[in-house]
Amino acid sequence: MTGKTHSAAGLLIGAVVSRHFQLDLFESVTCIVLSGVASIFPDICHTQSKIGRHFRLLSLLVKHMFGHRTLTHSILFIFIFYFLLHMLQTPLYYMIGVICGMISHVILDMLTPRGVKLFFPLPIRVRFPIHFKTGGIVDLSLASTFSIMTMFVLFESTMKSILQHLLS
Ligand SMILES: [Zn+2]
Repeated sequence: MTGKTHSAAGLLIGAVVSRHFQLDLFESVTCIVLSGVASIFPDICHTQSKIGRHFRLLSLLVKHMFGHRTLTHSILFIFIFYFLLHMLQTPLYYMIGVICGMISHVILDMLTPRGVKLFFPLPIRVRFPIHFKTGGIVDLSLASTFSIMTMFVLFESTMKSILQHLLS
């Protein structure tokens, strides 16, 4: 999937987590940004990706050591991140935002023909029985759907209170 679809999914997760934990404005923004970054982070193995262009050296290193869509798209990598965040005593809501952001990336890539090496270092390629071309119509529609859902999650309560105010 394109970076746009991945980040749209991450932002949606951040918005849902913020709302669920009723975070204040600062925490909400932080949570949404963290989830957004986490949702594109696995593509650090791809030097031409959004995140890869930002961290070129790290990206080259990961690409040469492991290849594309291997370690960074695996359950092992998500566990490593979980332990790191746990050791840093990251608040639960940020932790959920980051981990779910990363999981969403892997799931979305499993919807592409190339799939992911989910059980790295085992060389098994995993993908869903149905898959879609990166940059295709499904990919683009997913990005738009996630964005609309994010808006809805973020503004639903605001809209509700405005409506209640108008109707009362
Ligand atoms: Zn990827």
